[in-house]
Amino acid sequence: IAPPRESLATVSLSKAFGGVKAVDDATVTFHEGKVNALIGPNGSGKTTFFNCVTGMIKPDSGKVTYRGNDVTGRSPHRIARAGIGRSFQLCRIFPRMTVLENVLVAHRTDGLRSLLKGARDDDEIERARGYLRRVGIDHLERSEAADISYGQQKLLELAGVLMAEPDLIMLDEPAGGVNPALIGRIGTLIRELNAEGRTFVVVEHNMEMVMSLSDHVIVFDRGRPIAEGPPSEVQSDPRVLEAYLGV
Ligand code: ADP
Repeated sequence: IAPPRESLATVSLSKAFGGVKAVDDATVTFHEGKVNALIGPNGSGKTTFFNCVTGMIKPDSGKVTYRGNDVTGRSPHRIARAGIGRSFQLCRIFPRMTVLENVLVAHRTDGLRSLLKGARDDDEIERARGYLRRVGIDHLERSEAADISYGQQKLLELAGVLMAEPDLIMLDEPAGGVNPALIGRIGTLIRELNAEGRTFVVVEHNMEMVMSLSDHVIVFDRGRPIAEGPPSEVQSDPRVLEAYLGV
């Protein structure tokens, strides 16, 4: 059996805000082709870690690599070009634009001109419609994004992420604030997209979703990983129970 290939990885990554070490010397490896979950109590540094590896904030020290290439401190635009897509905890969409327009502009981080060009390009429109079908909201393409449900907005954001055809998709709380019916749908989509070869890193609080969805779980506490493994093992790890319950 071939060894797992390395997707995103960090070595001794650190980021402090004032005196708070949000990410503290974190060394983490995610493997290609897996659904990886990143869990941990509130304030354990998951979002800061996410923001450091996707270029939203610059780490104080340490290294970020993607498929072996150093991407430390690169801009979000260049991280995206390397093949990494991400969603946001509080869903980033343009509320006054239609659903279709949102998908068309989602991955256009390279300026207004290309944004306007993309919106007129028939192939791009067909591709956008394809991804809306894929996430199951193509019937809403003419609706204003503000008028669809929060769960549908999460699916819309995912369609936008898919437009860039990323190999690695990072989702920040895909189930957060979403009704149970749509949570199931988002889970199924992640599984399908993974079966097609996409790697996932998912930060999620919904333990049922984490346990049913992920191949590999990494548990953060106080800015660094304290345990990792398959969901069934991690669930009963005493260090994990201690981090969550403080026992
Ligand atoms: P999680 O996503 O696991 O809840 P965060 O990364 O949001 O954790 O937060 C980790 C720690 O860093 C917390 O103590 C939080 O208060 C602090 N923190 C996060 N972002 C900032 C910021 N922009 N300014 C100051 N402190 C921050």
